[in-house]
Amino acid sequence: MRGRIDVLQGDITTLAVDAIVNAANSTLLGGGGVDGAIHRAAGPRLREKCGRLGGCSTGDAKLTGGYDLPARFVIHTVGPVWQGGQRGEAEALASCYRRCFALAVEHEVLSIAFPAISTGAYGYPLEKATRIAALEARTHLEHGSGVNRIVFACFSEEAKDLYVTTLEDIVNLDDVAVQSLGTSRSPE
Ligand code: ADP
Repeated sequence: MRGRIDVLQGDITTLAVDAIVNAANSTLLGGGGVDGAIHRAAGPRLREKCGRLGGCSTGDAKLTGGYDLPARFVIHTVGPVWQGGQRGEAEALASCYRRCFALAVEHEVLSIAFPAISTGAYGYPLEKATRIAALEARTHLEHGSGVNRIVFACFSEEAKDLYVTTLEDIVNLDDVAVQSLGTSRSPE
């Protein structure tokens, strides 16, 4: 089998995968939402490291260690702020996923977990964002270039159900299994 996609409801910071993705802001200095949770769980060394990276542009990504997290790496990406959909948001969001996969391959990451980038404070409609996540996951697995386990960590049950349906629809590959997993330790 070429790969596996797991969808779970829970806190991404608890996952023992090679890399977790952070939906950061362009300063990389920490914020609310998943970014805040990752910095709290990774400890102050992550913040120190991020402070030396010189920020990150929308649609790009940068990699650090995971410090106190179970994950070995954190890939920080900056999603677009939703402005109605005509300002290149879809292309920027797709670019986040591609840049994360590219860094993952570069660092020999085999398993990676994504949050629903841009769908919190940045206001990207969940359904549209989920489609993009599924398309990029499919493209990556189709080309079989490294990562063979992709986890989508959803915060709500509603998001989890949407991910499962969308992935089953879009990632229709013979050798890729889409699995819905139970709830991990609930966040806060
Ligand atoms: P953005 O600024 O890119 O919109 P947010 O952190 O506000 O980022 O939200 C991105 C998504 O991450 C939202 O769907 C939010 O519910 C979810 N989220 C927040 N905290 C966590 C967490 N600890 N684990 C997984 N997902 C989380």
